[in-house]
Amino acid sequence: PIQLVWFRNDLRTLDNTALSAAARKGPVVAVFLACRRQWRSHGHGANKLTFIHDGVMALKTELEQLGIPLLYRDIDDFSKAPDTLVELAQHHGVATLHFNREYPLDERLRDEAVADRFQEAGIAVHDYTDAIAFEPGTLLTGQEAYYKVFTPFSKAWHQNIDAPRLALRETPERQSSIDIASDEIPDLPKKDRSSVVEGDAWPAGQEAAADRLERFLDERGARYKVDRDFPALAGTSELSAYLSTGMISHRQCCQAVMGRNGGHLADGDAGLSSWVNELIWREFYQHILIGFPHVCVHRPFQLDTERLAWRSSDKDFDAWCEGKTGYPLVDAAMRQLVATGWMHNRLRMVTAMFLSKHLLIDWRRGEAFFMNHLVDGDFASNNGGWQWAASTGTDAAPYFRIFNPTTQSQRFDPDGEFIARWVPELADLPVKSRHQPSDEQRRETGYAKTVVDHKVGRERALEAFKALG
Ligand code: FAD
Repeated sequence: PIQLVWFRNDLRTLDNTALSAAARKGPVVAVFLACRRQWRSHGHGANKLTFIHDGVMALKTELEQLGIPLLYRDIDDFSKAPDTLVELAQHHGVATLHFNREYPLDERLRDEAVADRFQEAGIAVHDYTDAIAFEPGTLLTGQEAYYKVFTPFSKAWHQNIDAPRLALRETPERQSSIDIASDEIPDLPKKDRSSVVEGDAWPAGQEAAADRLERFLDERGARYKVDRDFPALAGTSELSAYLSTGMISHRQCCQAVMGRNGGHLADGDAGLSSWVNELIWREFYQHILIGFPHVCVHRPFQLDTERLAWRSSDKDFDAWCEGKTGYPLVDAAMRQLVATGWMHNRLRMVTAMFLSKHLLIDWRRGEAFFMNHLVDGDFASNNGGWQWAASTGTDAAPYFRIFNPTTQSQRFDPDGEFIARWVPELADLPVKSRHQPSDEQRRETGYAKTVVDHKVGRERALEAFKALG
């Protein structure tokens, strides 16, 4: 009997739990539903839509190598998923629908509606834990509650992780020919195609992802712990876009680490254990979506911060978006985001804190701007990161610890190299001045005046948070 595998944010044939389980039961047919209107309503922009589209093209080739046809439907909205899938299943005489779980609220509601519709139609549905090691709800505190703080979560993760959870799922063998043809995948509409993502910058697919992982581990892995904080160095894996679309799995990452680390994930000094820690951050924020689903509807994790009196200055917000705040590191970072669809983690923290504290602008506006540009845009990590920076979230930075953007610049871009790359008007200044040009240097180079003085912005934020009582 035919098994239908519905691909979503798991665009790979290697180590794919649903695909692997389905192939053990019978011949497989794959399906992908493009839901671009829905994804746009979730804030994704052309960078991410292009990356997904190219990823589906790559998946089609990978599936065809296994003799698996890929069906494709443009349905715009999740609401059309149940009927579309049931029709396909009935048309092809499918016995079971298989898919890997996703955790944001809209995706869960969609999947429940699909399961209900299949039940009505009398067709079985199997869903699987795949994107993370532990199904949310299975890694809880001593009081059976969801963790609200990362460090104990990470400790529990390490204590409970075992070989079967991290074992790579079997890749199906090439199946003998099946009498169903793959669909043509239509070109992406012009408005959704981004030139930022085209070319060599973000090659889509599991092969490109595997290459990136190997290169990272060979060339940067040992120095990760030290280099990861310096945006000029490219010391991180740049795998986030691949992890968030499932072109590579966390298991593949963990196995590759263990392969180079005597079979261990955590150890004393090797840089790789701190890299594994980042993968656990990713998992932590997925669990938060289930434990505290109010974060999925634009509400802060800490509900008392809902009363915060955010400023609504479009002028300041635009200066931040355009990389014209007058703080060189903030501006370099924002220009990197717009030009490449990606931003270094240290800078995501610096820019998010600058918007939510120095400018006291609602973190949700920044979250949306990031989402619109990020090729790795991931609801859980983006929301978690923004709420951390704005002191409204889990583990939040205490509201009074506000990064000084100039000090951050001196510390994490000591040679002003990153600034020179992205704010070229400052490249000819002596290194020291690149962090904080004088008024005269600003006039001469045409570089922006500071949108707010650090101390003034800081005090204003402290007052606003104190007013919460
Ligand atoms: P590496 O340092 O190589 O880390 C490996 C992987 O671990 C990453 O690819 C990512 O999947 C995961 N990871 C690393 N740091 C974090 C973290 N702090 N939280 C959750 N997962 C993490 N990450 C996204 O994938 N999508 C987002 O939309 C996103 N938005 C963010 C917004 C803000 C305000 C902040 C502070 C962080 C955000 N992050 C997001 C987390 C992090 O900045 C990126 O994952 C990281 O910069 C990606 O680069 P990398 O792949 O080289 O990371």
